[in-house]
Amino acid sequence: MKVLVINAGSSSLKYQLLDPSTEEVLAQGLCERIGIDGRLTHKIPATGAKHVFEIPMPTHAEAIQAVLDALTSAEHGVIKSMSEIEAVGHRVVHGGEKFAKSVKIDSAVMAAMEECIPLAPLHNPANLTGIKACEKVMPGVPMVAVFDTAFHQTMPAKSYIYALPYEYYENDKVRRYGFHGTSHKYVAGRAAAMLGKKIEDLKLISCHLGNGSSITAVDGGKSVDTTMGFTPLAGVPMGTRSGDLDAGILEYLMTKYNMDIKEMLNVLNKKSGVQGISGVSSDFRDLEEAANNGNQRAALALEAFQYSVRKFVGAYAAAMGGVDAIIFTAGVGENDANTRMAIASGLEFMGVEMDAEANQVRGKEAVISAAGSKVKVLLIPTNEELMIAKDTAEIVGK
Ligand code: AMP
Repeated sequence: MKVLVINAGSSSLKYQLLDPSTEEVLAQGLCERIGIDGRLTHKIPATGAKHVFEIPMPTHAEAIQAVLDALTSAEHGVIKSMSEIEAVGHRVVHGGEKFAKSVKIDSAVMAAMEECIPLAPLHNPANLTGIKACEKVMPGVPMVAVFDTAFHQTMPAKSYIYALPYEYYENDKVRRYGFHGTSHKYVAGRAAAMLGKKIEDLKLISCHLGNGSSITAVDGGKSVDTTMGFTPLAGVPMGTRSGDLDAGILEYLMTKYNMDIKEMLNVLNKKSGVQGISGVSSDFRDLEEAANNGNQRAALALEAFQYSVRKFVGAYAAAMGGVDAIIFTAGVGENDANTRMAIASGLEFMGVEMDAEANQVRGKEAVISAAGSKVKVLLIPTNEELMIAKDTAEIVGK
């Protein structure tokens, strides 16, 4: 079975054509500058070929058509006709409380997704545009929506409730939702496979550390707590996002610098995190280089990030009453041995013992804890597209 996975942004659209049973990626690529002019980058992993086309893309519909043309082209295509695509899986950022798992898209689902727009005003409209474009260009092909928030819908009320007047939850749906759910679910499943245990019997802490970062406590295969909140601004410091902070700071800074809430949120989302502390970069490679060259603020940014992640790992072990394995994934988690080591190094008291040599690995599944470590530490590259394709295949029933 071949599934087309679509991740639609406001002016971009990422895609992968893959077979969820063999896990083979037949083609993948990116449409950029939708609504401006239009560029398609199309890659075929089997041959390493990469093609770039300048194609007018006034809307997402032309972008999807360009993807289908590339996939079926005689020269650089990987399928003979569009009919080989049996289903489309769409990444959708916010499913609110309406979606606790992936669903087949129909008009009722679309209407419910429209209702979630206020919860993710930047992302959900773009995701919906991608779905509507596919409906137009490939009518009749079954489509599935896979939500970033769905995996976290198993959190108990004590984890998701904010200590605000209860009516803000009841009337306005202000609560912790959590994000990166597709990634946390995927790596938790792989961790169970690597450990040769049933996921129902495991307590896992999944550290998705990338440009955006979140930590999730997964007890028996279910998310029971996560660091991101009502929005993806909460939790640990990130590339440019502040993570958790005292809300009183907002009033203080807004008054002092005459900022409105939009300007304040721009600071918190785009100018904070490790970029804000260091003044150097949001990229961990740049930070490490700067820290190695004696830049104190870059060193402090790394330390603050590592400390925050370590604190949440400890907190989630306490929340679950133990932990069997800690997982590192995403750009930093998969590639940055120093950061992994620095995070885990403070956790010996709870049975975490790293293997420094085994930790010198990048981008592939590996056990990086010492043989006798009570708590296993795992490096697991995330694969959200594969998770979306697998969910899609399961839901369309093939
Ligand atoms: P992601 O959001 O998962 O794509 O992760 C992107 C981030 O991963 C980048 O901003 C880098 O900070 C980080 N990253 C990627 N490769 C490396 C590496 N080799 N060492 C350290 N950090 C890395």
